[in-house]
Formats: sequence, structure tokens, C-alpha cells
Amino acid sequence: MTITIAKSKQAEGLIRRVEEISGVDLNVCYQCKKCTSGCPVAKLTASSPSEIMRRLHLKAGDELLDSDIIWMCVSCETCSARCPMGIDVAAVMDALRTLALEKKAARQEGNVPLFNRAFLATVKLFGRTYDIAMIAAYKMGTLKFMADTEKFPAMLKKGKIALLPPTGADRKTVRRIFKKTGHNRGGDK
Ligand code: SF4
Ligand code: SF4
Repeated sequence: MTITIAKSKQAEGLIRRVEEISGVDLNVCYQCKKCTSGCPVAKLTASSPSEIMRRLHLKAGDELLDSDIIWMCVSCETCSARCPMGIDVAAVMDALRTLALEKKAARQEGNVPLFNRAFLATVKLFGRTYDIAMIAAYKMGTLKFMADTEKFPAMLKKGKIALLPPTGADRKTVRRIFKKTGHNRGGDK
């Protein structure tokens, strides 16, 4: 497969922002591809984690934000665990999702960005994830209020969904983290 690297004026800005948000030094990747070989979605996507790392390294521009793996990534962190250089590749994916939303990148897979926003909004508000609030926010976005409702009783019975908001979370600290990391997706948009 041929990879097109379009160097653009925003390239330096994109790399700097990815490093800022993820805390990753992109220069230490030596392309061993261990991240890709363990990634559960790399076989389904046009781009792999190691390819994304390489393209960032080569100063790709905002076209990188159209990569499908940004939204297909399930945040399992296998890539981060396997990297011999200790690179948090999953954090790079998260940073790219943040930037894709900020820059309104054209390619966003289905309702994944909406789910992502709903998840972060509840974490920001409650200090931890709160399933009911997240589902409500997601359904307000999709307007498919009855979709998957048949699963609800079984999930409730098995304790997979809590009706009450989480307690004991340090909400102030969590909000400070959102502010400090520039994660303004948590309900701010
Ligand atoms: S595992 Fe680490 S060093 Fe190897 S290609 Fe992936 S990010 Fe680079
Ligand atoms: S966190 Fe994302 S990129 Fe990394 S292995 Fe899991 S699915 Fe693949």
C-alpha cells in the first residue's frame, strides 16, 4: 500500500499538539510494529497504529485526522503495553480524536464521535462514567430512543448498569484535568 505524506503548514502544529495532549515523544518510535501486530482492529482499518506513528514522525498534516483508525480504535491500550519504547500509542490515538473533533475533520466513523463526546461529558460532570447519563446524551444525539432498549432489563439485572450516579469521585480534580489537558469535548461543545 502506498502512503501519501502531504507536508503542510499545519504539520508542525499538529505534531506539537499531539505531543502536548498525549505526553508522548514521537521521536523515539523506531517502527518495530509491535503496536500494530497486537492491535485488534488494525486488520480492519486502512491505517495501522505504527503507520500513524510514522506519518506523524514524517510531519504529516491535518489529512492524518481523516484516518479511519482514529475512530475504529477501541482504546484497549494493547499497543501501549506492547511498545518496547514505552510509547503510549493509545494516548496518541486519543489526542488525534481530540484534534479531529476540534478541527471538524471530515471523516468521522458513524456515531463514534458522538459516543466519545457523551462518555467524556459524563466523566467531566460526575468524575467517573455514569452509564444512564451517557446513554441519555447519546440517544439525544442519535434520536433513536428505542434502539437496543430490549437489552436494558438484562443488563440492569446483571448489575452492568447503575441507576444512581457514581459517588466518591474527586470531581474537582477531574475537571481540572480536563481543563489542563485541553479536553474541551466533555460537554463544552
Ligand atoms: S511498538 Fe512502539 S516503537 Fe514499535 S512501531 Fe509501535 S510505537 Fe513505534
Ligand atoms: S488502543 Fe487502539 S490502536 Fe491501540 S491496540 Fe487498542 S485498538 Fe489498536
